[in-house]
Amino acid sequence: MKTNILVCYEGGGYDGCYWEWNYFYIDKQGTFHDIQSSGRAGIDNRQDAEQLIERDETHTYIYNLSNKQDIETFSKETHPVHVSGVLQWFNDYNAHKAESFIDFFVVCSVCDGQISDHDDMTIEDKDLLCYDCYMAGECPCCESYIGQESIIRVNPDEHYDHIWICTDCKEYHDDEREAHNIEDIRWQAFCTGTPDMFSGELREQRLQTSGGL
Ligand SMILES: [Zn+2]
Ligand SMILES: [Zn+2]
Ligand SMILES: [Zn+2]
Repeated sequence: MKTNILVCYEGGGYDGCYWEWNYFYIDKQGTFHDIQSSGRAGIDNRQDAEQLIERDETHTYIYNLSNKQDIETFSKETHPVHVSGVLQWFNDYNAHKAESFIDFFVVCSVCDGQISDHDDMTIEDKDLLCYDCYMAGECPCCESYIGQESIIRVNPDEHYDHIWICTDCKEYHDDEREAHNIEDIRWQAFCTGTPDMFSGELREQRLQTSGGL
């Protein structure tokens, strides 16, 4: 019997044929731990676990937790929501059973860095991110995550004191500022006669906007 393994299998199966991913862990001593089991196909004891492993089904995945490469593979080929749940389980386990610490981590989708504390990770769509990568890809202005490649450096005087913002924010602020500038020039022209409201750029803008001044 292999030990220190994380097993991912098709559990669930209530009415009809619904199934969902379930997980169990068998530690170095051979003790069975149910991480997540559901429905008729869920496994909650070592005997059934052994039988499942022996059946060697295509949709049963076995990861050797003594092997870092295997842990990485699990993190990369499993949906982040499940990866997150399994990490949470190991964190809780380690917090309560200090004498048998299990070395487990997940991998950031952007930098491949290892994350061993559930509090240090975030899920964005299909990505699992470490704290640093999340911060680097979050726009401090609109506070949405768009990825580091969409964050650009701007003049803080023109962008509410932000040095790094997303391209959407930049576009939006630029339009906003442009609209203000036109209003200022119009007002100045109205009061002073310079620039001439009836010629050049201002005239064109006046004709574009219905009503005008
Ligand atoms: Zn990262
Ligand atoms: Zn933004
Ligand atoms: Zn903004």
